[in-house]
Amino acid sequence: MNKINLTLDEIYSLARTALLNADSSEEMANIVADTVMRAERDGSHSHGLFRIPGYVASLKSGKVNANANPRVEKITPVMIRCDADHGYAPLAHARCFDHLVEAARTYGIAMAQIVRSHHFAALWPETEALAEKGLVAFSCVNYMPMVAPFGAKEKVYGSNPISFAWPRKGDAPVVFDMATAAMAMGDIQIAARDGRELPPGIGLNKEGEPTTDPKDIDPTTGDGMILPFGGYKGSHIAMMVELLAGPLVGETVSFETAKKDNGDGGPAGGGQFILAMSPEITSGTEDWDSSADALFVRLKSFDHLRLPGERRHKNRQDTGPRSVNADLVEKIRNLG
Ligand code: NDP
Repeated sequence: MNKINLTLDEIYSLARTALLNADSSEEMANIVADTVMRAERDGSHSHGLFRIPGYVASLKSGKVNANANPRVEKITPVMIRCDADHGYAPLAHARCFDHLVEAARTYGIAMAQIVRSHHFAALWPETEALAEKGLVAFSCVNYMPMVAPFGAKEKVYGSNPISFAWPRKGDAPVVFDMATAAMAMGDIQIAARDGRELPPGIGLNKEGEPTTDPKDIDPTTGDGMILPFGGYKGSHIAMMVELLAGPLVGETVSFETAKKDNGDGGPAGGGQFILAMSPEITSGTEDWDSSADALFVRLKSFDHLRLPGERRHKNRQDTGPRSVNADLVEKIRNLG
């Protein structure tokens, strides 16, 4: 695979220019390009530049509103609803973030429900930003059907990621962010692009038989499907995500979402659930962090154990250029 070195500023500009050339408003282009740059910076490649062709496709097809103007409404003092106006999710997050933080700090717990939004990124930017404000955060989003529930040979669930973040005084938050599919869709597509075989247990082909060929699994190009992680237990967590990010916030479940999608390769429209809690208020003590820190110290005492989020935070310390796929960069430059 051909590689090319780009600085973080060059990655941001490349993404921003491609979005602006597809008529995105400047505000949305800036926020999405920043999300893409931060994914590359942290080594979350499946949600960095790799996503730009999809972001651009949905702007060009008109599925995503290039001039989205998300509206924030307080349904109750602790329930913030953000109608994303069919724009990309990071713009909706930016509009409702301060309201969510303020409500959680005032009442101890608050939720944001994002609707009519197109989520094509990792989830950690949302939860980590809340933890950096001293809040415990949880978020999930559903997507297009690509995962076969345990016991089924048809795609019903999205790859339905969940992210959880725990704040630490004077240290980076502990953050996990994971698809409830055995492997995130972007990683399957990258393996297919790079001609890599996958380990067993990731997916099924169109006949519902196990396969290690990412091209046969890829539900976006064929009739294959991904398996949930962790058998029936992961399957139930995927179902929970369908319900929290769909009906709970007044949005559709993944297989209904698919019916309204135009198949342009970009992200389908749908909902997102974000919960924020103030550990100081819920625990009733300013010392809310001592037992949590005891747990993290104990975990870190094991030689081969690392906390989730550490890999990204370590990558972040390197402010130098990133090595990215040269063909992808060429493709993005030619998008306009
Ligand atoms: P991974 O399996 O790579 O990682 C899952 C979590 O486990 C991360 O928090 C990671 O931390 C941590 N982790 C990984 N390896 C280890 C290890 N050896 N020891 C300890 N912790 C570890 O993530 P996925 O492939 O499941 O998901 C990738 C991304 O895809 C996510 O960001 C998710 O939000 C996104 N996604 C987005 C969708 C959407 O619709 N928008 C749909 C599906 C997925 P660390 O980051 O530090 O490695």
